[in-house]
Amino acid sequence: MKHFESILGNEALRLRLASDIREKTLSHAYIIEGPRGVGKHTLAKNLAAAISCENSDDPSYPLPCLVCPACRKILGDKSPDVITVSREEDKTSMGVDIIRDLRNNVRLLPNDLDTKVYIIEEAHLMNEQAQNAFLLTLEEPPSFVVFLLLAENSLSLLETIKSRAPILRMRPIPEKTLERHIVSIEPRAKELKESSPEEFYEVIKLSCGYIGQALELLDEKTRKPLLAARHMAKDFVLQMTERKNGKRAAEIIEGFSKKREELLRLLSEIELAARDLLAVKKSEDPPLCFFTNEDEAAEISFKFKSGAIMELLGNIYEAKERLRENSNVRLTLFDLCVKCGLL
Ligand SMILES: [Zn+2]
Repeated sequence: MKHFESILGNEALRLRLASDIREKTLSHAYIIEGPRGVGKHTLAKNLAAAISCENSDDPSYPLPCLVCPACRKILGDKSPDVITVSREEDKTSMGVDIIRDLRNNVRLLPNDLDTKVYIIEEAHLMNEQAQNAFLLTLEEPPSFVVFLLLAENSLSLLETIKSRAPILRMRPIPEKTLERHIVSIEPRAKELKESSPEEFYEVIKLSCGYIGQALELLDEKTRKPLLAARHMAKDFVLQMTERKNGKRAAEIIEGFSKKREELLRLLSEIELAARDLLAVKKSEDPPLCFFTNEDEAAEISFKFKSGAIMELLGNIYEAKERLRENSNVRLTLFDLCVKCGLL
């Protein structure tokens, strides 16, 4: 029986939702948790469609069936019974006013479906007052309403909300699955893979299994600074394996802007590279977070002793701490180069 085929990976979660719907044990609220770009909105839309799907009892159809009027309306963003609730654009949190509006219309019957679905975006940004107001609704929800709370992290949600809304944790998907999927749905991905495979695999690597991030990175403007940091990080690690003459390190420091976030990004990339080098030493076929080519990672790793990689990780950690305490950007990079023997 097929279910939630638009969602990549996450089999256990899809199976659970399909059985909640078919066995009519659906909760009145779910928290869909996962980092930005993991596919929370896609899951919410598909879940809303599955709940109202006219063929949900017929196992010969996938769930949602995608072809009945309810599915088409919901997935085409045309159903007045699927309501998206978001914070005001200029606010950093979701205030109680928005939840009051929700409370005012939550008891109105659905328009043409049996169930009204409220998709609450960035639910982790609801302030405490908003959460308390929401709780009142959640304690006595109308029978025809389902709430889907999308949250990057459920830690900031009240325990009393979490106890009434099961958490559906979305997981990143395997690289191969992401690669196949993005090439099949997005012409720009196919083009990039053909014209510049190395860059394409870097995009896959940088996405960490999150489809939304991969899609964003297909935009060259978004991709460029991230790739530049990766290349610089690799350069840095390679410099450590070579006889030092300080010239290249001096160039890196010289060419570096004074932007704090940029150095933090570089440090994070060096950290990922160092972790890969360590992982390659310790196991046969480790999942790599930085290198796109395992042989290359093994070759570089061979030139390091484990102790040296640990020391590099320690130095990176320290540099990050200093940056957070507002140290001078170039000076921090300079010190790191000295500690790592590049100068
Ligand atoms: Zn349907």
